[in-house]
Amino acid sequence: MGFSTDAIHVGQEPDPSTGAVVAPIYQTSTYVLEATDKSKGYDYARTNHPNRKALERTVAKLEGGDFAYVFTSGMAAIDSVFRLLRPGDHTILSQAVYGGVFRLTTKLLVDFGLEFSFVDTSDLEKVRQALKPKTKMIYVETPTNPTMIVTDLDATSRLAHDNKLRLVVDNTFLSPYLQRPIEFGADIVVHSMTKYLNGHSDCTGGAVVLTRPDDAEKIYFVQRSAGAGLAPMDCFLTSRGIKTLAVRMQRHNANGMVVAEFLDSQPKVKRVIYPGLSSHPQHRLAERQQRGFGGMITFDLGSREAARNLLNHVHLCSLAESLGGVETLISHPALMTHASMPPEVRQQVGITDGMVRISVGIEDVEDIIADLDQALSHV
Ligand SMILES: *Cc1c(COP(=O)(O)O)cnc(C)c1O
Repeated sequence: MGFSTDAIHVGQEPDPSTGAVVAPIYQTSTYVLEATDKSKGYDYARTNHPNRKALERTVAKLEGGDFAYVFTSGMAAIDSVFRLLRPGDHTILSQAVYGGVFRLTTKLLVDFGLEFSFVDTSDLEKVRQALKPKTKMIYVETPTNPTMIVTDLDATSRLAHDNKLRLVVDNTFLSPYLQRPIEFGADIVVHSMTKYLNGHSDCTGGAVVLTRPDDAEKIYFVQRSAGAGLAPMDCFLTSRGIKTLAVRMQRHNANGMVVAEFLDSQPKVKRVIYPGLSSHPQHRLAERQQRGFGGMITFDLGSREAARNLLNHVHLCSLAESLGGVETLISHPALMTHASMPPEVRQQVGITDGMVRISVGIEDVEDIIADLDQALSHV
């Protein structure tokens, strides 16, 4: 079946007991057993429940993986992946990872003996130079947030496997409709489902999609032992959102391109970073490994003052963190999503004070442009 059909039907079969086309929300913490050693497949909602199982089947199918586990947030999902490691193990991460991943690794997981190096993973030579005897994982975000740097998934997975490492890819920015890292050899894909997969900004959620049964078993063990599995209502909302993923992404792509070209034509905008523009240094690579360029655009207004003037005058675009929803969201990475990154690190990874990040929604694109146009007049 095609992607859109799978997004609507896999894991979403009619409820066998009533015929309901949409499965009910199993809002219960516990399940009656038929005998001490006999259940109907469920015993306690931390361990598993039907809404979670349904969503996990959908997400595994859409990413082309064999297993998926869903968590209360993207960060809980990502945290579970680092628990595959042992003290002393080393991980190479993309330089400009999501701010929360930078905080989790450098402020929390280092205290448990894990070691992390941040390198520009778009440069394979730099990744090779960062390898150590205890390197166990390469963790890539592509495109990066908010610098929109693209990493070659095919080449990186070959490097990882030549060195017996796992390749983990954060696919939040594109969703499986636009990029399927497992097809390029990734072993694990992580998501903040809060973003495009849900698409409606009404709950947080995270996913880990895997190909290796040994890793899958461990992630499931973490999910039921540490207890951060996604709750029934939130699974239901995310499953509902996923049904329209394909049409939403088509519109995000179309609107993203129009907004990127508009910004590119504005004299007050110093630079537009969008892999869909031929000016993007990795436009060709993005074209090769993505099925579209998505709705995330970063642009530079040259100074914090100019960025603040724009952000304080938008009306339709909401000044908010997060991304990937139907509504257009606009933010200032240095002050908001990446505030936990020290200024010198921000500078090193290319996050400037004049940068603005926009998650282009699926409203009428003329309305988005009119709002940006009037806000730019205040810059
Ligand atoms: C939002 C985000 C996360 C974290 O997800 P939460 O659901 O907020 O915990 C991780 N990676 C990327 C790329 C994100 O945008």
